Amino acid sequence: MSKDHHVRAKKNLGQHFLTDESIAEKIADSLSYKGYDHVLEIGPGMGVLTKYLLEKDVTIHVIEIDTESVSYLKNNYLNLADRIIEKDFLKYNLKEVFEEQPFAVIGNFPYNISSQILFKTLEMRDQIPEFSGMFQKEVALRICSKEGSKVYGILSVLTQAFYNATYLFTVPPSVFNPPPKVDSGVLFLTRKENYILPCDEKLFFRVVKTGFQQRRKTLRNSLKTFDLSDNLKSNLIFDQRPEQLSVEQFITLTQLIENDINS
Ligand code: SAH
Repeated sequence: MSKDHHVRAKKNLGQHFLTDESIAEKIADSLSYKGYDHVLEIGPGMGVLTKYLLEKDVTIHVIEIDTESVSYLKNNYLNLADRIIEKDFLKYNLKEVFEEQPFAVIGNFPYNISSQILFKTLEMRDQIPEFSGMFQKEVALRICSKEGSKVYGILSVLTQAFYNATYLFTVPPSVFNPPPKVDSGVLFLTRKENYILPCDEKLFFRVVKTGFQQRRKTLRNSLKTFDLSDNLKSNLIFDQRPEQLSVEQFITLTQLIENDINS
């Protein structure tokens, strides 16, 4: 492929190429670049963001599923060539590259898998101190929202249990080729100092996911499957609906359930 032959956007891969250099630079500048030596970009496409990342004083790795984008990157970013992982981010075992080292994650994500990208990040939280990314605006707002908000949900609680989440800025469809149908939003996550929860973490995930399955119901109703004692269920916390509980209250709730199950 010639150097200036551009990648044809493929819908099934969620390809919307960013055309605004100043936004790419702003996204690259959103990480602190402190506390880790490696950064992984997911879905670099033609490298609009990668180019600014390569200016930073860290080692840049990219993971890209699209063969055509990979050959474009190999032709245009010669110094990146041996750090291009041609794989599906969701399936690839990142320990093969990073072993136990910490790394930050960044990208203008394919929107069809952006929640799954976040879940995989949460699973690897031990190694990921920072995360910056472009989502569909509505999803980015949801991840950063607080209890009491209409959009507060599973993604908000699970993310904010481990990370401080900041919504940075909105990006309009007009700066992409082809333009998506919706606005985009960039968010920044920085891992909390105490990101080990004072409760059973597996149970915490189950409590949050089950609680939000029926968001209009009280927790007493939606957590029935946990087979809790009548004594515990009389606790006033069960009168609430999931969207009213802060992250800390979800942790307390998990502790109560843990004690109840074990007694
Ligand atoms: N970062 C580029 C491209 C964004 S479009 C830009 O801002 O212009 C999203 C990119 O993610 C595409 O290049 C697409 O091929 C890639 N992609 C889609 N699914 C992927 C997956 N499962 N793993 C890795 N990359 C993926």
